[in-house]
Amino acid sequence: MKMVWKGNEYTNSSSRKGQVPSVIVDHISAGTMSSMDSWFTSPNNKVSSAHFGISKRGEIHQYVAIEQAAWAQGITLDKIPNALSPIVRSKPYNPNQYAVSIEHEGMDGDLTEEQFQASVQLHRYIRDYVKRVWGHEILLNRNYVIGHFQVDPVRKANCPGPKFPWVRLYEQLAISAEEEKEMQELRNEVNELKSKLTLAEQRIKQLEQANSLAEIPAWAKASVDKAVRSGTVRDPEHASLDMYRLIVILDRLNLIK
Ligand SMILES: [Zn+2]
Repeated sequence: MKMVWKGNEYTNSSSRKGQVPSVIVDHISAGTMSSMDSWFTSPNNKVSSAHFGISKRGEIHQYVAIEQAAWAQGITLDKIPNALSPIVRSKPYNPNQYAVSIEHEGMDGDLTEEQFQASVQLHRYIRDYVKRVWGHEILLNRNYVIGHFQVDPVRKANCPGPKFPWVRLYEQLAISAEEEKEMQELRNEVNELKSKLTLAEQRIKQLEQANSLAEIPAWAKASVDKAVRSGTVRDPEHASLDMYRLIVILDRLNLIK
């Protein structure tokens, strides 16, 4: 997985104040990746940031270190009871303090395949990173991988959007990385077989062409013309000698009308 660091001295972040990262919050950027890059590094931005952004092409940009809190899903303490996520409701802290946030380039949550695959890998990367640094495992299920709307259902009902592939994401995250590796190896084998098949088909075509005649032989011409007129034969050129013989025989047997 390739990740590019994009944060700068203007990127907003603050201390986690002792909280361990324990949920992953998914977002939609409602804009392009390049506007996200410039907004999260702009001296004029005093309001928001995210740890990661994933472009439609599957590129991953990091703006804030996981050790720091990004400003992606903050709510005041009085809004915590409104949260749809039981985990958020159970913690008396600003969710930024314990969340890791992922922005996805797009408008309605519809991800490209590259973007989806990158997102799956990034969720796993975050889990592994947090486990290594804090010794805490974020379970990649619907309790701990949530949407922004589950933190702030009033102002952020459409983040990450109605088309966000939750079902597929949870299914994919439930598969272990080892199982996924095995599946990838199988896919590679299938692709190898497919390319071998394509080569074989090309070879067969070459052989067929080598066997076909460039011109209709004079002795078959009359019968072939007749066969074409009757609709018995549609494409009379480049057939094999056997094919022309067959047409002539059919004609002699008076089977071409
Ligand atoms: Zn959001």
